[in-house]
Amino acid sequence: MAEPGGRASSTHFSGCRTLQSPLGSGTYFQTMSSPIKLYNPGPINVSDKTYEAMAEPMIGHRGKDFQALYADCQPLLKSFFQTENPVFLSTSSAWGVMEGSIRNLVGKKVLNCCCGAFSDKWLDVSKRCGKEAEALRVEWGQPIDPAELDAKLATGEFDTVTLVHSETSTGVLNNLEKLAAVLAKYPDVCSVVDTVSSFSTVPTPVDALGIDVMLTGSQKALALPPGLALFTCSQRALDRAAQQNDRGYYFDFHEFKKNHDKDMTPSTPCISLIYGLRAKLREIEAEGIENRYARHERLNAKVHAWVEKHGYEFFAPEGFRSKALTCVRNNKETDLPKLIQLLRKNHALIIDGGYGKVKGKTFRISNMGDETDATMDVVLNALDDSLAKL
Ligand SMILES: *Cc1c(COP(=O)(O)O)cnc(C)c1O
Repeated sequence: MAEPGGRASSTHFSGCRTLQSPLGSGTYFQTMSSPIKLYNPGPINVSDKTYEAMAEPMIGHRGKDFQALYADCQPLLKSFFQTENPVFLSTSSAWGVMEGSIRNLVGKKVLNCCCGAFSDKWLDVSKRCGKEAEALRVEWGQPIDPAELDAKLATGEFDTVTLVHSETSTGVLNNLEKLAAVLAKYPDVCSVVDTVSSFSTVPTPVDALGIDVMLTGSQKALALPPGLALFTCSQRALDRAAQQNDRGYYFDFHEFKKNHDKDMTPSTPCISLIYGLRAKLREIEAEGIENRYARHERLNAKVHAWVEKHGYEFFAPEGFRSKALTCVRNNKETDLPKLIQLLRKNHALIIDGGYGKVKGKTFRISNMGDETDATMDVVLNALDDSLAKL
């Protein structure tokens, strides 16, 4: 198995690094890699290999070189999303496409499945876009119930549903298969699924599930710097978008499709990030997507074993836990700010002390991206050491 992330582990304390010119003309710039290792769930550690891929010289976005770069990414993207549809590249963070989906798809009313910070915010965003919107709400830490989704959709009020697959704020992994089976009963309803922290950590076969728009971002499970969002779009979603008057320009799905047909993007994209993406896709291919899923499962189980050994509890119920991160209930009332301070000072790494309203009540440890058994041992040993010093 190829080592994921190349020399990711060596970036740990590397400080100032020098990159070699890909043209072979010697050193041409220096960069600082952060001496602090990130085990909070996003943005996460970026490998030297990715930074090097991103240091390719700039090219025009309306020329053959860019078209070749864009086209190079498509087969692997389609294979990892498991779709026959195009995978569009948006120069924005994930929220751009999340808001764009509302503008493109909602004609009548949207049902926002709310189970944590990111999914809750989607309701607010829908309203700010001037759309009729309603929440299907569960308590933070709980998954969305397929029977409740079914009951809401049976009212016939909704034409769009939003769902966050892995709710990064609570560590909940919703059961996409069961929820998609409910959605399949309602062919007039378009579905939008956020896989920002689940894409490439567990299978998300978008076509088999019948999901209309599936989106992810660059800085979480893909271990790239922030600034790029990726999304699939079904014919049904394009047909629906054609009926909406206020799609705007920047996130208009039809602009993406028109440009995609020429291996281009609507406006000037983050070309450096797309070089990074191509390198990352090749890395995933070399590792093998199934091996990548297995690695996330294994590293996540390692964190779970640590949680149980220390008498902590999980915030998400069994069977609904993300494979990309662990959200731990702070049932022992550990002094989290102090713990985080010790981790940073003595071990040069950070974990997260809880998001939004569960700050202090939970803490989160990421195992997504390029992490290995060795790099996860680093954070777990550091946690042991720091807990002993509290
Ligand atoms: C981080 C995250 C987002 C937001 O991504 P941005 O890149 O900040 O737009 C959305 N959804 C989930 C599940 C996330 O984890």
